[in-house]
Amino acid sequence: MSESWNKRTQAVHGGIRRSQYNEVSEAIFLTQGFVYENAEQAEARFIESGPDEFIYARYGNPTVSMFEQRIAALEGGEDAFATASGMAAVNGALTSMLKAGDHVVSAKALFGSCLYILENILTRFGVEVTFVDGTDLAAWEAALRPDTKAVFFESMSNPTLEVIDIAAVSKLAHAVGAVVIVDNVFSTPVFSRAIEQGANVVVYSATKHIDGQGRALGGVIIGTKDFIRGTVEPYMKHTGGALSPFNAWIMVKGLETMALRVNAQADSAQKIAEELEGHPALERTLFPGLKTHPQNALVQDQLGGKGGTVLSLDIKGGKAAAFAFLNALTIPVISNNLGDAKSIATHPATTTHQRLSEEQRDELGITPGLIRLSVGLEDAGDLLTDIQRALEVSQG
Ligand SMILES: *Cc1c(COP(=O)(O)O)cnc(C)c1O
Repeated sequence: MSESWNKRTQAVHGGIRRSQYNEVSEAIFLTQGFVYENAEQAEARFIESGPDEFIYARYGNPTVSMFEQRIAALEGGEDAFATASGMAAVNGALTSMLKAGDHVVSAKALFGSCLYILENILTRFGVEVTFVDGTDLAAWEAALRPDTKAVFFESMSNPTLEVIDIAAVSKLAHAVGAVVIVDNVFSTPVFSRAIEQGANVVVYSATKHIDGQGRALGGVIIGTKDFIRGTVEPYMKHTGGALSPFNAWIMVKGLETMALRVNAQADSAQKIAEELEGHPALERTLFPGLKTHPQNALVQDQLGGKGGTVLSLDIKGGKAAAFAFLNALTIPVISNNLGDAKSIATHPATTTHQRLSEEQRDELGITPGLIRLSVGLEDAGDLLTDIQRALEVSQG
């Protein structure tokens, strides 16, 4: 494996481990444990295990290691720890490093479960959390304190697709010695250079673009060797959030095609957003790749101009019109995943963000007419025709 490889090469060959059979495709080591040659070897391995020595699948497994090393190489991180889901990764990254009395600053526009960890779980164990508008650098600066241990944000928020300036927030956070933890799902490993831009820790739900075909849950925490092996691994291996070897294999194979899939999806999303912008049935078309998006300049800098694979449509007529739109679609399915080969339409106010109060939803711009559309691998023209027809139906 070569560190000079570009992302596309890393995604196909990174982290590969071949057995004695020299198989071409990565093997699934569907085993919980490993046999020691003798008692002395078992003893030695429990004292210190080498990079290719395993003890128990909750601690590590060869197929899981392939996924960890491949995604770490892709993301430009030193190491990675794979987890059972994206939420196990978010929880693991935060909980492994925080203790009672610590202060955290977080963006307030968060995926519901991320918000639950910060608002309900960490605070229960004596961690103080300050929420800020993630796009407001002055608000970050005002909230950061000498005892701030971590900052947390989604680099592109769900479902209103605000883009947060990783480099600028990292600079402010590093000035008080805080660790920058970025949930990077919407930016995707294909377009992100979060670590290069200043993030210390990057977290993904692999359930989204990494699998990309809606088959399995998974997650990963990427960071320095010190943070991953010294802080995250002890927490994860004793609390049981390990990724299964079978799911790790799905993710390893997903990484091989991820760049092709995500680029195609992002190109379709851009095309659809451009065509829909200004449509008479829409209050707003939210897509970071649109020139009219408030952070489009940042998208050029931070994401090479790519707006991602998700767009949000605010349909005139509120919930009734949004439901009529959803029910009229024939290609996108009504569900709540994203980054999938199949286009997926979601009504956040009644599903993923139902738990929030109406006031919180208003504050985040999650209106009753808002639809989140994850653009899949179908023909962009077919999708557009279907969406335009459903928009007409939505207006009665
Ligand atoms: C989906 C998602 C998660 C959670 O991932 P799971 O794999 O479903 O646990 C966390 N953060 C963001 C931004 C997500 O989109």
